[in-house]
Amino acid sequence: MSEYSKKVFRDNLQGLDAYTRHKLFMRDYVNFYGHNSQPSNVETKTEFDILKENHNWEQRVAKKYYDKLFREYCIAELKYYKEGRIALRWRIEKEVITGKGQFICASTKCSNTSELKSWEVNFAYMEDGEKKNALVKIRLCPKCSDKLNYSKQHPEIKTEKDEVDNSDKKKKRESISERSNKKREGNSKDIERQKLVDNHPDDLSGIVKIENFDEFFTGLFV
Ligand SMILES: [Zn+2]
Repeated sequence: MSEYSKKVFRDNLQGLDAYTRHKLFMRDYVNFYGHNSQPSNVETKTEFDILKENHNWEQRVAKKYYDKLFREYCIAELKYYKEGRIALRWRIEKEVITGKGQFICASTKCSNTSELKSWEVNFAYMEDGEKKNALVKIRLCPKCSDKLNYSKQHPEIKTEKDEVDNSDKKKKRESISERSNKKREGNSKDIERQKLVDNHPDDLSGIVKIENFDEFFTGLFV
């Protein structure tokens, strides 16, 4: 993919706020992958298939965005917060697309969209008959945040803007994402690839070069 087409893509996104970019990426995702695709299905394809399919920026950025989003945020059932029982689940595709749990409060009973804060929560779940753990983000409005933190105070994840203002917080956030990446099975492929690149920075043969799409995701993973 040429630098020129990347530039065109970047220019088109310039000045758009996070929610508008979210809607554009999700529209592209639905266009390219349909309503029933799940990241797990896509991952079973070979790297060659993915390369062949991902023929333009819109498609590749939308896919990267969806995959990143899928294991980033959870939905919370806060009904039994007074007993310290908080139930979490992964979002379904419809929720990822509409931004429930990202731009809309993650509580099942709430649809607040203002003053949302991100809380880091350890999510224990079963997958393929195995017990797994992941550090996930729960985005909640102030009222629901109080419920989540009623029995136990969870660490708050500051926005990307706060991090730029404060390098100590930035370091902290990096260590959080490192830790959570290690625990996130969904990202294991990326990590493997990153390891290959780290160990052999000049030898990119046989692996897919990692493209940095983060510039398009500024303000989206708060
Ligand atoms: Zn709420």
